[in-house]
Amino acid sequence: MKDNFDLIIIGGGVLGTSLSYFLSFLNKSKKIAVIEQEHNVAHHTSGRNTGKVHAPYLYDPEKKKLFANAAFHGYEMWKEYSKLRNLPFKEDGVIEVALDEKGIKILEKYLKWGKQNGIEEKDIELIDKTKLKKIEPEIKCEAALYAHRDGSTDYSILTNSIMKDSKKNGIDFLLDKKVTQIKKINDKWEITINEDHKIFTDFLINAAGGKAIDIAHNIEVAKNLTDVHFRGEYWKTPKKYHSLTKTSVYSVPEFPDYPFLDPHWIIRVDGSCEIGPNAVPVFSPYGYDTAENIKEFIPKVFEMLGSGARKAIFDKQFQELAFSEIQSSMSKSVMIERVNKFLPKINPKEITEKGTAGIRSSVINENGKFVPDVILLEEETSFHILNYNSPGATGALPFSAHVINQLHKKGLFESEDIGAQCGPWKFNDIIEKLEK
Ligand SMILES: Cc1cc2nc3c(=O)[nH]c(=O)nc-3n(C[C@H](O)[C@H](O)[C@H](O)COP(=O)(O)OP(=O)(O)OC[C@H]3O[C@@H](n4cnc5c(N)ncnc54)[C@H](O)[C@@H]3O)c2cc1C
Repeated sequence: MKDNFDLIIIGGGVLGTSLSYFLSFLNKSKKIAVIEQEHNVAHHTSGRNTGKVHAPYLYDPEKKKLFANAAFHGYEMWKEYSKLRNLPFKEDGVIEVALDEKGIKILEKYLKWGKQNGIEEKDIELIDKTKLKKIEPEIKCEAALYAHRDGSTDYSILTNSIMKDSKKNGIDFLLDKKVTQIKKINDKWEITINEDHKIFTDFLINAAGGKAIDIAHNIEVAKNLTDVHFRGEYWKTPKKYHSLTKTSVYSVPEFPDYPFLDPHWIIRVDGSCEIGPNAVPVFSPYGYDTAENIKEFIPKVFEMLGSGARKAIFDKQFQELAFSEIQSSMSKSVMIERVNKFLPKINPKEITEKGTAGIRSSVINENGKFVPDVILLEEETSFHILNYNSPGATGALPFSAHVINQLHKKGLFESEDIGAQCGPWKFNDIIEKLEK
């Protein structure tokens, strides 16, 4: 039957598409599809982010080993893949600045973490302000961490390319198809798309980004979790600023648990410069405009009041943060002021053109706390990837390989040829490196 599949992935972001890429090599005879509600893959967060291929120095090697490893190997993999397909990838590094003594201590910790996460001595260094002045005369700071093994790309282009490769290998991409209901009928999942059409699958992977929690709730999974959404807005800078620095500049986050509140100076892969992102609370993972936010306001508030988010909303620390930090991060002038602290040359009056905006969906647990890490939930015939946040795009290829390997090892969805060559990589080699 045409509408019967062995495996369906919900979500054509960088994650769902990367999963399909590996599955397309490992399961030549299986019928696999990716369902995406939009006309293109990477239409939401995956195509609206900062475009950095991050060096993993921000991640505690004890607590976030898998994510840090995925980011470390993701860099080499995207670099290799971009070269193979002639796609944009610049090895342009990143500078993280400290503005005071407290910040320097944090940079020292990041240097240690970076090395523990695999970054070689030559690829990361802590430099004092005198040395930095010689490299980047316009940056004002007390010290800086220079990560040379950090890059820039366009994840929308990369995701579209891996979709093409997956399609060539037989994966179906069902675009413009929104999953509106999921039910278990006997041993199969019955998936309703666009309200009326039904398709069936034996196994389901939920990689629906900002809607992953809702999809999981639809089949009674992760009922103890909810999420909140923040819109990260970017502002373009005039051409005269495009050569202000050679490298993108981040600053040590004031609140390490909420690093998305600190805007950066970004050099995009095409050479243009932007400031952002900030963090505006919104009611939907697609809350780019007021109409969508109004539509989602009432249902989201009801859902939050009945969940752990209720505790977060009334939590004193969160309230203080919401009223001071989050509110101020919403304002364009405060955001530019923050960047001004390390790049005093920028005149806020000249920053008038809005760039893109990407929405971050953060999971909150039953105690009202933000969950810091990705959440992987397995059932006999479904697998859910929740809270897949930064640097999710960087690590998407190795992370996907990890998920597929887990499914195989646990007998949830066995691959036909687990050692297959997947494009430029042998699958087993990726796993071996990742698990080292
Ligand atoms: C502002 C910002 C900046 C960031 N910068 C970086 C960076 O520089 N580097 C980095 O590595 N990471 C960055 N990240 C993180 C990274 O972008 C994400 O981790 C990654 O894009 C998540 O990919 P995804 O595929 O899980 O989600 P998404 O890209 O959101 O994809 C999920 C897809 O599921 C589809 N979908 C949802 N529900 C349904 C349904 N019912 N039916 C059909 N389809 C559905 C959606 O349309 C969407 O296309 C950033 C994130 C944000 C918010």
